Amino acid sequence: MTSQPALYIENLQKEYDNVTALDGITLTVPDGSFFGLLGPNGAGKTTFINTLVGLVKKSGGTAQIFGHDVDDDYQQARNAIGLAPQEFNVDRFFPIEEVLEHKAGYHGIPASEAETRAEDVLKQVGIYNKRDTRFDFLSGGMKRRFLLARALITDPDLLILDEPTAGVDVQLRRDLWNLVTDLNDQGKTILLTTHYIEEAERLCDKVAILDAGRVRTVASPAELKDRGTDRIIVTLRSQPVTLPALLSDDERVESIEQDGRRLTVTARKGGLVAPALVRELDLADLEIVDLEITRTSLEEVFVEMTRHDSSDDGDSDDTSLAGADDRDGPASPDDPESQSERQITPNSGARWLP
Ligand code: ADP
Repeated sequence: MTSQPALYIENLQKEYDNVTALDGITLTVPDGSFFGLLGPNGAGKTTFINTLVGLVKKSGGTAQIFGHDVDDDYQQARNAIGLAPQEFNVDRFFPIEEVLEHKAGYHGIPASEAETRAEDVLKQVGIYNKRDTRFDFLSGGMKRRFLLARALITDPDLLILDEPTAGVDVQLRRDLWNLVTDLNDQGKTILLTTHYIEEAERLCDKVAILDAGRVRTVASPAELKDRGTDRIIVTLRSQPVTLPALLSDDERVESIEQDGRRLTVTARKGGLVAPALVRELDLADLEIVDLEITRTSLEEVFVEMTRHDSSDDGDSDDTSLAGADDRDGPASPDDPESQSERQITPNSGARWLP
C-alpha cells in the first residue's frame, strides 16, 4: 500500500477527430479499493482504460497511477498496472507459460524469476496443467483465466479488469469473482468494467457511472440504490371504505395507489418508510395480511441515470447491459497485453501512441 491514490484523474479529455470520447473525467480511486466503472456502450470506458495504459494519448487533463503521470512517468505508471482486456489479444505462437515469461521480461523481470512467477500465476488461476498449451487451444473459460494470469505476472498494485466475465458460464464467473476478491483482500486495487450490474453490486465498494465521456456519479452500490424508488405493496384484510391520508408529511413518498385491498406505495428508502406505513394503517384500524417491499435494482438506477432522449444518436444511447461494444481499440506494437497475431519483443523500447 502507498499513500498515493491508485488513480488520480483530473479533467481528463480525449478527442478523436470530431468525437469527444472523454469530456473532462475527474475521479480518484483510493489505494486498495474495488472500484467499478459502469456505463452504456460508447460512454468512454475503453478510451479511459486505454489512456491509463498508454494505448491512447490523452488530449488534456491529468492521469496519475500511484502518483506516476501516465505520460511523463510512463514506464512506472505502466508497471503498476496489470490489465486483463476484453479482447483476446494474445501471442498465439508460444505455449502460455512462455507467453507469461515474455511478458515478465518486457517489464524487466529477470528470466529465472519470470519462470517461477509464471508457474505461480498459472496455479493461482487454475490452469497450470495447461502451461504447455498454446492460447488458441484453450477453452473460452481458460482463455479468460489466462488473461487474468497475464495481468498478474508483474504482481501489479492496480489490476484493471475490462469485462472479465463477458460470456463465461456461471461457475467460472463465480470462480473469477472469488479470485479477484482474494486479490483485493491482499491489497490490490481493482478497477472493473462490467455490463453485469450484479457483478458490480457484489464486488465493488464504489462505482463510477460514466456517460457520454463524463462521470455522472461516484457512489457505493448501496448509496445508488437508495437514490432509486422502492415499492411497498400492502394487502389489507378488507377493502377500506375510505382510505385515510397516509404518510402525508413523508417527503420520501412519491405516490400511493389503491386497487381494492392492495396499496402500492412508491417511495425512496422503502425499508424505512414501511414501519411508518404499518403504524398509520394500524391506527386507522386497517388490518394487514401481507406486506412486501420491492427494492429498486441497481440496474434500474443505472438505466435511469444514463437514459438518453430518443433524439440522441450514435451508440451512446444504448443503455442495454448485455453485449459489450466489440470495437477493438488501437493496439500497441510493443506491449504484450496488446499483441494480436505477432511475436513478442521483450524489453523493446518505444511505445505507440495514436
Ligand atoms: P465504451 O468503452 O464505454 O463503449 P469507448 O471508449 O469505446 O466507449 O468510446 C467512446 C466514444 O469514442 C464513442 O463515441 C466511440 O465511438 C468513440 N471512439 C472510441 N475510439 C475511437 C477511435 N479510435 N476513433 C474514433 N472514435 C472513437
